[in-house]
Amino acid sequence: MDVSSYKLGCCVWEFTLACNLNCIHCGSSAGKKRDDELTTEEAFKLCEDLKKTGCMGVALMGGEPFLRKDFWEVASKIKELGMELSVITNGTFVDEGIIKRLARLAPRVVAVSIDAAMAELHDRIRGRAGAYADSWEFIELALKHNLPVSVITTVHKLNIGELAKMRAQLKGRGIAWQIQTAGSEGRRFSKDLLLDEEEFYSVGLFVESTRRNYPADEMPVIGAHDLGFNSIMLKNTSLQEKWAGCQAGISVLGVRSNGEILGCLSINDDKYVEGNVRKISLYELWNNPGSFARSRHFKPEQAGSNCVSCKYLDSCKGGCNEMSLMKTGSFHNDPCCFWKIEQRLFRKELGSPLGRIMLKFRSLSGGPGLRKLAEIFKGER
Ligand code: SF4
Ligand code: SF4
Repeated sequence: MDVSSYKLGCCVWEFTLACNLNCIHCGSSAGKKRDDELTTEEAFKLCEDLKKTGCMGVALMGGEPFLRKDFWEVASKIKELGMELSVITNGTFVDEGIIKRLARLAPRVVAVSIDAAMAELHDRIRGRAGAYADSWEFIELALKHNLPVSVITTVHKLNIGELAKMRAQLKGRGIAWQIQTAGSEGRRFSKDLLLDEEEFYSVGLFVESTRRNYPADEMPVIGAHDLGFNSIMLKNTSLQEKWAGCQAGISVLGVRSNGEILGCLSINDDKYVEGNVRKISLYELWNNPGSFARSRHFKPEQAGSNCVSCKYLDSCKGGCNEMSLMKTGSFHNDPCCFWKIEQRLFRKELGSPLGRIMLKFRSLSGGPGLRKLAEIFKGER
C-alpha cells in the first residue's frame, strides 16, 4: 500500500504524564510529569505538523491534561487548525469556568473516567478519596453546558461486578459509554486483577446485550479495540462494522508528552517508539515508507501460534497488538479474541452451563442454532 493511503484519523496525545490521581490500572503509571515534556512552542509545532499530515482529530489525554498550564492555548490551536478536539480527563478539576471554556471550544467529546457505581470503590481504584464525587460533579456541569460527554470504564476483577449498576446510572443521561479492559503495563497494577478468559468474554456479552436491549440514544455503548474480532456470537462490540486489524500507525497514532511517537500509546514500551517529533517531523515520519512496519507491512507468516492458522488472519492481522504483547510477548498473536475464546468454550464446554447460556443467548438473538454452531466449530483451529 502506498504511504499516501494511510489517513490519520486520530492522534492520541499524552499531553502530560503529570496526574493528581494514582489509579491502580493506569497503563502509563502516570503521576509525575516527564522531565522533558514538549514546550508550548513544540506543542504548537506538533499541532501544525498533525494538520499537515492530514490528521482529522486530536485527543488530549494524560496523565491529566488540565494540569498543563498551556492546555487552553494548545486546545485552541487544534481547533483553529480545523481538527476535531477530544479531551480525556479524570474530571476532578471541577470548576464551572473550565466547563464554560471547554464548551466554547466545541470539542467532539469530553471523556471522563468512571470505574464504579459506588464512590468507595471508584475512589479506591483511583487512589483518592472524593474523586468519584468530583468526577460526577464535572459530568453534571458538562451536561448542563451541553457538552458531549462520554464515560470511560476500565474493567478488571475489582469492578467487573459494577457494570450493570453503572448502566443503570448512565442510561437516559445522554452519556456515551466506552468499556475497555485493564492491561498489565502499569507499575501499580497487580496481574492478579486481570480478567480471566470467561470474565473477559462476559464483558463482551455485557456490551452486546446492552446494545441489543437498550436503544442507542438511551444507552450508547462501545467496547474498545481489545474486545472482539470475528465473533459469531457478539457482532457488535465495537463501532467498526468489521474488524480490519490493529490501526496503530494506519489510522491512529500516539504521541507521548516528550514527543515520542508510537503507533498506539497502549503499546507502552520504549522498544516500539518510532521517532521523536524533536528529531523528525511527524509529517515526514508518517510518510516514511519504513514507518509503522509491524502494522503497515504485516505478513501472515509474522503471526504467532494463536493466529497463524486462523482463517481470518489476512483481515484481522492477529487482533489487538497491545493485548497480544501483554499476553504473549509478540505482535499479531492475540489469544483473547472472541473467535478463539468461543472455539475453546464451545468445543470443550458445549454441554456446560456456560455453553448452554451462550447458545441460548445466540438463539434468542436469531443466530445459528446449536447444530449449526457445532458444525461451525468442528475442525476449526
Ligand atoms: S485467532 Fe488471531 S487472526 Fe484469528 S480472529 Fe483471532 S485474533 Fe484474529
Ligand atoms: S494496539 Fe490495540 S488498542 Fe492500540 S490501535 Fe492496535 S488494536 Fe487498537
